[in-house]
Amino acid sequence: MTVLIAGAGIAGLSLALTCHQIGVPVRIFESASELKPLGVGINLQPNAVRELFDLGFEQELGTIGVQTRDYGFYSKHGLEIWTEPRGKWAGYAWPQYSVHRGMLQMMLYRAVVERLGADVIETGWRAESFETSPDGAVLRLRGRNGEERREAGRLLVAADGVHSAIRAQMVPNEGPAIWNGAVLWRGTSRAEPFLSGASMVLIGHQTQRVVTYPLSEPDPETGLALINWIAEKTFDPSIGWQQEDWNRKAAIGDFLPDFEDWRFDWLDVPRLIRGAGDVFEYPMVDRDPLDKWTDGSVTLMGDAAHVTYPVGSNGASQAIVDARKLGRGLLDHGVTPAALEAYEDEMRPASTKIILANRGGGGPDAILQRVEDLCSGRFEKIEDVISHEDLAAHAAKYKTVAGFGIEALNAMPPILPVGASLQINR
Ligand SMILES: Cc1cc2nc3c(=O)[nH]c(=O)nc-3n(C[C@H](O)[C@H](O)[C@H](O)COP(=O)(O)OP(=O)(O)OC[C@H]3O[C@@H](n4cnc5c(N)ncnc54)[C@H](O)[C@@H]3O)c2cc1C
Repeated sequence: MTVLIAGAGIAGLSLALTCHQIGVPVRIFESASELKPLGVGINLQPNAVRELFDLGFEQELGTIGVQTRDYGFYSKHGLEIWTEPRGKWAGYAWPQYSVHRGMLQMMLYRAVVERLGADVIETGWRAESFETSPDGAVLRLRGRNGEERREAGRLLVAADGVHSAIRAQMVPNEGPAIWNGAVLWRGTSRAEPFLSGASMVLIGHQTQRVVTYPLSEPDPETGLALINWIAEKTFDPSIGWQQEDWNRKAAIGDFLPDFEDWRFDWLDVPRLIRGAGDVFEYPMVDRDPLDKWTDGSVTLMGDAAHVTYPVGSNGASQAIVDARKLGRGLLDHGVTPAALEAYEDEMRPASTKIILANRGGGGPDAILQRVEDLCSGRFEKIEDVISHEDLAAHAAKYKTVAGFGIEALNAMPPILPVGASLQINR
């Protein structure tokens, strides 16, 4: 009755913990030879934070991240367009968290080792392909020295990220992820906190912008916090870009000159960028939504199922919610393909909407370009350019699409009832 999981990222580890919670055995196969705290900052929306709390991380999340207090949009001249409260300050029953991706992954990993035992995760094994049969799924794996091995399970879940090998087998002609011309340079710097001290801001417009937020409280001695930043520029997509790789290092000189005059009385962007250690670059890619995630006893989740532009802060949040909904499917239908179908029926249409909204200028950041088009980002009062009602309606619409409308989320019963469990003969 074992569920095989390919990939020990945010999605795979969340699924392992969820399966453990409801009594379903799992085995995880991860291609990296060792899990390390890689990446920079990500945001966890209240719908995902709720699930992490239900998994028992309420206290620990507070030690690895910062509760995001407000979310603001600013023109390239540093002028405020729209700011709204976030998390509990907005009326959600759960906070929004800004966290270091690597610390989140390691928190989940430690919990898997403690709760399920170290031997459920095997690193250094790359999932290559699968076969399905009436009894379940067989996963073909390749070791670091080229050795091959096959493992059988009742179900197989592909949580192997943006370059999913399982997805490539399911959708053989899909080709590489689609680049929209934008490049993201990402880093973290020790710097003074800005605005509320827990603010997330988007500055600029569609072809050039900065997103930044703190990942830690300020150090009591230095007053400096760890600040995550992303600088983004858009090029002609026909020039092509290197294949997406979250760990590719970049040089500050490639983009800093374009942001040199972004010095505002509340934030000095070039100084922030100069303060970074390693800087990474990543092309803004997504993939077309799929018509199907499930093939019998095999399904996709997380980035393997839905790669979207990282503009709405919901890649990791979606991965966590996927894990919980998959768990719910198992609870309702047992360890059967019907559980995978139930999960897909609920999550695939929702994620398709997010991919299309982020792609079609319907993401929360679309407001920046509207203001740039209307007044080149310069105004005395924002109401002279765009009405308050218009701004509020835009912000509310995206939250609903992404599944974190305030009233709806607060009223929703837990995805997995406390104490719910499957009785399984191992
Ligand atoms: C190293 C790294 C750094 C990242 N940094 C950022 C960041 O700074 N900002 C951001 O917004 N997002 C980042 N991401 C992406 C972000 O984690 C995901 O968008 C989101 O959390 C969804 O999680 P996921 O588990 O689906 O994918 P991921 O978190 O990408 O996890 C996929 C996991 O599967 C493993 N894997 C890949 N192929 C195979 C295979 N064939 N067989 C077995 N295992 C496989 C990978 O090593 C990884 O551990 C990063 C991802 C990675 C892997």
